[in-house]
Amino acid sequence: MDIKNVSVIGAGTMGNGIAHVFAQTGFKVTLVDVNATQLEKAIGTISKNLDRQVSKGVLTEEQKATTLNNITTNTSIADGVANANLVVEAATENVNLKLEIFKQLDAAAPTGCILASNTSSISITKIAAVTKRPELVIGMHFMNPVPVMKLVEIINGYATSKEVNVIITELSKQLGKVPCTVNDYPGFIANRILMPMINEAIYSLFEGVAGVEEIDTVMKLGMAHPMGPLQLADFIGLDVCLSILKVLHDGFGNPKYAPCPLLTNMVMAGKLGAKSGEGFYVYTAGSKELVVSGSFK
Ligand code: NAD
Repeated sequence: MDIKNVSVIGAGTMGNGIAHVFAQTGFKVTLVDVNATQLEKAIGTISKNLDRQVSKGVLTEEQKATTLNNITTNTSIADGVANANLVVEAATENVNLKLEIFKQLDAAAPTGCILASNTSSISITKIAAVTKRPELVIGMHFMNPVPVMKLVEIINGYATSKEVNVIITELSKQLGKVPCTVNDYPGFIANRILMPMINEAIYSLFEGVAGVEEIDTVMKLGMAHPMGPLQLADFIGLDVCLSILKVLHDGFGNPKYAPCPLLTNMVMAGKLGAKSGEGFYVYTAGSKELVVSGSFK
């Protein structure tokens, strides 16, 4: 199958990164979002990230211009996917919203178009079941920040065809990524392993075993992790961590995945991490400099 036109649904954190890597590799990209301001912001972010690549000597000014020329934007799903060979959905992580979007994609995308989701935790099998083409539905889970991170976790739903898996695997390599195929069970592999570690770090804080800095330092220096689990949770978003833990807890029915009450409380209090200005650390406006917010209160 010859993939030339790629539509990306959702122009947030992940959508702009996904559009960036496809466009830089030479694909024609249509970036779709219901929110026109988000689309403008996404193009600004892509342009800024391309500038950084130019200043590092990774790209030329000409390649930057070609990449931007490869991207158009649209606020309508139906128009935005009319010529797509592949759709990568990266809209808000909400099951009902994704089911609705996939019904629309199935109705509007050409026959044979592959429908991929970048979901962190929602079942690909469930998403595929609302379409009339479940064999063409697959998980294509990029990591944040997309232009930098090498992994694409590919998730085979119950009905995903072998051919579609091969196409998406080869395509991921073409993007300069390293694909890894897993089956469709709660949390796939990345979050099934990452989230219990983050939850355990939060429990360690909650039970007073150590403070924020101590927990992160032990994991950074002791395990050679580039970032401690509490700082990583702040960057992922504490609301996102909580919702993924709930998917694991509900999906497996095993108490070991129960979210730490401190995480639940912080989300209820609106402390969502870097995006809200405070999580386990405090983030000063416009800067990613961390100021430790003090220990568990
Ligand atoms: P985000 O909140 O930054 O962006 C979501 C975008 O979707 C918003 O711009 C919103 O306007 C748009 N949207 C909402 N409804 C829409 C609709 N009906 N049609 C088109 N656009 C719509 O979210 P994000 O962090 O980019 O996450 C997107 C997806 O990627 C989620 O499924 C998430 O689980 C997954 N993911 C996120 C990360 C991460 O670190 N943020 C990593 C891997 C995967």
